[in-house]
Amino acid sequence: MTSLSYTLVNVAVNRPMFRDFVYKIAGVHTDECLGSRVSINFAGSNDIGVITSLCSDASIDEKKLKEATLIDEKSFITAELFQTLQFGSNYYQYPLGQCFNVALPKLLREGRAFNYESIPALRLKENVNPLALKRIKSQEQQQIINILAQGNVRRKELRERGFSSQQETALIKKGIIELIEYKAQYQTFYDNISDLLKEKPPIPNLEQQNAIHMINSAKGFKVFLVNGVTGSGKTEIYLRVIEEILKKGKSVIVLVPEIALTPQTFERFYRRFNTPVATIHSALSDRERLDAYIDMYKERAGILIGTRTSLFTPIKNLGLIVIDEEHDSSFKQTETFRYHARNLAIMRAKINNCPIILGSATPSLESFYNAYNGLYTKIDLTTRAGGATMPGISLIDLKNEPLTEGIKTGISASLENEIGEETAKGNQVLLFLNRRGFSHHLVCHKCGYVFMCPHCDNLLTVHKNANRLLCHVCENSMPLPHVCPQCHEASLLEQGFGTEQVYEYLHIRYPDINIERIDRDTITNKNQLEQRLKRIRSGESQIMIGTQILAKGHDFPNVTLVGILDIDSALFSDDFRALETTTQLITQVSGRAGRGQKKGRVIIQTHHNDNFFINLLISPHNNYDFIASELLKTRKKLSLPPYTNQAFILSNSADRNKAFAFIKMLEQKIALIAPNYANVHITNAMSDKMEKQQNRYHFHILASCENRVTLNQFLNHLRQIVYNNKLISADVRFAIEIDPIFMY
Ligand code: ADP
Ligand code: ZN
Repeated sequence: MTSLSYTLVNVAVNRPMFRDFVYKIAGVHTDECLGSRVSINFAGSNDIGVITSLCSDASIDEKKLKEATLIDEKSFITAELFQTLQFGSNYYQYPLGQCFNVALPKLLREGRAFNYESIPALRLKENVNPLALKRIKSQEQQQIINILAQGNVRRKELRERGFSSQQETALIKKGIIELIEYKAQYQTFYDNISDLLKEKPPIPNLEQQNAIHMINSAKGFKVFLVNGVTGSGKTEIYLRVIEEILKKGKSVIVLVPEIALTPQTFERFYRRFNTPVATIHSALSDRERLDAYIDMYKERAGILIGTRTSLFTPIKNLGLIVIDEEHDSSFKQTETFRYHARNLAIMRAKINNCPIILGSATPSLESFYNAYNGLYTKIDLTTRAGGATMPGISLIDLKNEPLTEGIKTGISASLENEIGEETAKGNQVLLFLNRRGFSHHLVCHKCGYVFMCPHCDNLLTVHKNANRLLCHVCENSMPLPHVCPQCHEASLLEQGFGTEQVYEYLHIRYPDINIERIDRDTITNKNQLEQRLKRIRSGESQIMIGTQILAKGHDFPNVTLVGILDIDSALFSDDFRALETTTQLITQVSGRAGRGQKKGRVIIQTHHNDNFFINLLISPHNNYDFIASELLKTRKKLSLPPYTNQAFILSNSADRNKAFAFIKMLEQKIALIAPNYANVHITNAMSDKMEKQQNRYHFHILASCENRVTLNQFLNHLRQIVYNNKLISADVRFAIEIDPIFMY
């Protein structure tokens, strides 16, 4: 029975449970409260839940219900976002209450009000003494003044655009600019939409015009795969299309990979549009993140640029989603809510009936496949906007190279020659090796002892600069040993090279040349990366050696030679995606070269010059599309994704026996229902490739099926068995991972 003083609501809680709980809230409420947060008492603790529906079960005795307190009078979770999360919860087999926990900014998760607090911003003072303006010598201060001349800007945004707070403070002291409270200056982004462009855009070339026209003509939901070589002007297309969407008063989400493309990407948008741009990424404080979230909901900003979780920002009138570098694996979350932001974004676009652009120079095989099947509209950009040409690829057959000191360090004599010649001409060289550290591992030459991580089934990597042995899985480390702990001999042998060692070697060989090492050890924040990139752009440094951080987004017009130091480990990987990711990386790295007037070339070192894949890479057809179509043929032959759908059923525990017993029990439960799902192929339970990780033992079962719906029905069934029978004990973790992109 409901009385007038209470409304009964179904609440999703942040617990591993696939069901809602009924609470009563004071007052009479309508659908407006769907998605509202409530504070609840759940199983004895204070918690935040989310209202999923009004409860119409008349048989419930209201007096017996616990009362929840409404936090949001009116829900800020838009209906379309709500539906997206519901879909995500179902598809990825993760409880809705826990999906909300991933989707909400931390402060909202903790019950903070959905409101701005103070936001410090800067404004150009009125009637500034012209003399004071003239006296400004600092270029940076001048730039700040120019920016503020176009409107007030929050301090955070200036920081993101690379300005230091010292320069701002200096200008405040000089009485030229002043601190203000930004939140008071509230306007929606479409209030000023007539004056949208800050700069004059370049005139699109024919391919761009065609792309812009096609996307602008989309009526409602449509997926566009913009497949354009690096530098072909994809971002320019986004900007043009976004302009049209904003003019209609609609908002746009642009998702970028985790290694945020540094300030340049944001800067492109700031430079183009006379309208606030909200950004969400890992470098923000919780408060800043929430402000950006509110900016989008309140339509103060019309553009959101952000990483994976920004997909869950509520938007009233969503007109377009852009997924830049759609092939990037950082769009996949691999813990808790294991969604793929690209795939879920497609669903969100569908719910909003708006277009979505997937852009990449190296689209994922999945997206190619969907394009071939007519699900996506593929748009090719075949030429570089600036007119530069694509580099050619050649091989160094390592078998024919002398066994020099260099080759043990990853640099063959022939490659060293080439590096010498290019640098002597004043050109730059980019060397790519996707392995950081000095040596891959350490072994005792006397007794064969290998140094393993005590917490993981993983070899420890030698980091000489840090003087430590480091586990790349759990990041635990220990001081670099000098004797073997088993036989006590000082006979330790380092094996395999990483970027640190290559750097050391080059440094000795080319003492007069500045070399930049760019990997996760040398780059721990955006500023360090910016500093190094600056030295490279200015020509101060001529050689760079780096991991995949180098492959993404940056332009090096003076690079004429790209060296791929090790490709062989990918050739023999047991991950069927290794060749796809390697091709993407090589294509991306190669795309960094020869972007200026000089032609670039790429050299790959290999011991296996007769390998089929290597020959694909260097064939005259060596464009990415051709290789991708060849790789797809292999996938088809082997019935691998995208020709089938996969899901992992995962279990782990700190107690190996418990994890193993649990997965064996699942195996039995599955055997009982398997006959109902004859088309689903299910493996036995087995250890993960790395069974022990961070002191937990991991096991899995792999299920695959050509039919996505059938696979989902099977997983639903299994999940219900697990949850309904409360099979999970406190010390075992259970998860289902749909459409995995990493193998376990
Ligand atoms: P992508 O995103 O495909 O790497 P961008 O959009 O960043 O390509 O374009 C590469 C470079 O070419 C940028 O400096 C951009 O300003 C410039 N550019 C793009 N389109 C044009 C055009 N139509 N005319 C002139 N320059 C262009
Ligand atoms: Zn470890």
